[in-house]
Amino acid sequence: MTSPVLAPSTDPCVHCGFCLPSCASYLALGSEMDSPRGRIHALKAIEAGELTLDATVASHFDSCLGCLACVSACPSGVRYDQLLEATRPKLNAPELRSPAQQLWRRLLFGLLPYPARLRALLQPLRAYAGTPLQGLIRRTGLPRVLGPQLAAMEQLLPPLAPESFSDSLPRVVPAVGERRYRVGLLLGCVQRVFDPAVNQATAAVLAANGIEVVIPADQGCCGAVTHHQGEEAQTRTLAAALVRSFAAAGPLDAVLVSASGCGHSLKAYGRLLAEADPALAAAADELAAKAFDVQEFLAKVGLTAAFETALRPLPHPDGSPASAERPLTLAYHDACHMLHGQGISAAPRQLLRAIPHVRLREPLEQGVCCGSAGIYNLVQPAEAELLGARKADDLRGTGAQIAVSANIGCSLQLRRHLQGSERSGEQPIPVQHPMQLLAQSAGASLAKPTN
Ligand code: SF4
Ligand code: SF4
Repeated sequence: MTSPVLAPSTDPCVHCGFCLPSCASYLALGSEMDSPRGRIHALKAIEAGELTLDATVASHFDSCLGCLACVSACPSGVRYDQLLEATRPKLNAPELRSPAQQLWRRLLFGLLPYPARLRALLQPLRAYAGTPLQGLIRRTGLPRVLGPQLAAMEQLLPPLAPESFSDSLPRVVPAVGERRYRVGLLLGCVQRVFDPAVNQATAAVLAANGIEVVIPADQGCCGAVTHHQGEEAQTRTLAAALVRSFAAAGPLDAVLVSASGCGHSLKAYGRLLAEADPALAAAADELAAKAFDVQEFLAKVGLTAAFETALRPLPHPDGSPASAERPLTLAYHDACHMLHGQGISAAPRQLLRAIPHVRLREPLEQGVCCGSAGIYNLVQPAEAELLGARKADDLRGTGAQIAVSANIGCSLQLRRHLQGSERSGEQPIPVQHPMQLLAQSAGASLAKPTN
């Protein structure tokens, strides 16, 4: 059954300010209007007819990352997530943003959820992304001439593997040994293009744990990118297509996601499609009930004894294997939509600790957003830059040799800020998904596609 939609209320907020230290926009901008308490105060004033939602007020909601850290921090149970979800569609009124901002958003929403379009756009950049030429162009400062938004996009552009340009995974990855479960795997629209190795590793780890993986070939974007920005109609269209795609995959025990922003949206499908598409409501409900982050699922069902036995120490950057005397230091970065949006924090750590001789370190500002937040680093690049640098400093402070992130947006943002600098002598810190580390440790990889 779809859970009833509660009318969000500002009433429980007692203006105590306990949420402020965890609020990324407040940390970046330092102004009350850019804090949860300030925004809730503004919503109350709008409700009372004392304030109009004009462009200035809207800009203080646009500065919000939607990270939901304030929901975790609030002792009064204020559902800022629901307040924000109800407010975001109103911010899309044409008079509230400049024509340039609206055009940029339209371009992003017309591009990011559609891997085929993204791939077509990226084709000419294959000889640029991740090559010495990119480093050279960056050193000239030329990308800054393109304006802050395009410059931010260029900074996030990762090296493009051949797998970035086609979905090379087979439709079915059989379980190794006895089949315990049959699951669907969501590839993610941005992840499959910018970090296809994560999906490869996820399928390999699942298969090695006796889990058959079904990958519907026609699956598109889950709608998370637009959902978190209040683009309701586009989100429902994308969600409906994805529900149909997985419904056609046959009986599944679960639908797994290795990008946390996607998982958060998938779990809301019942509510998202209940009224908009009654014919699909039952299938949407079913998919939402079966949606799990891959780590959440693996921690729940457990790794097989054979897989655990196969786990070997990972190498240090100098190539020597980690050992009891010299463990490999990892710092796990909590993605906001996993930690605050889905309440998942123990599962990824539990899986990482299964790898021999790793030492997990926690950043001081563990639950604070890295500034990625969906398209935030592309529409609010100045604030995202501050937050990315702050998070990178925090992760460096742990002494981590590898930063671990289970969300593609965070991974791109962290790679951009942990790439090191020849000038300052700062060493780069690689960013890996937990599934990549588990796959590497177990020597798990996929056989060649069979379809
Ligand atoms: S949202 Fe919660 S924590 Fe923040 S000011 Fe209101 S009551 Fe306090
Ligand atoms: S969602 Fe994040 S950025 Fe927005 S008010 Fe809450 S803590 Fe601040």
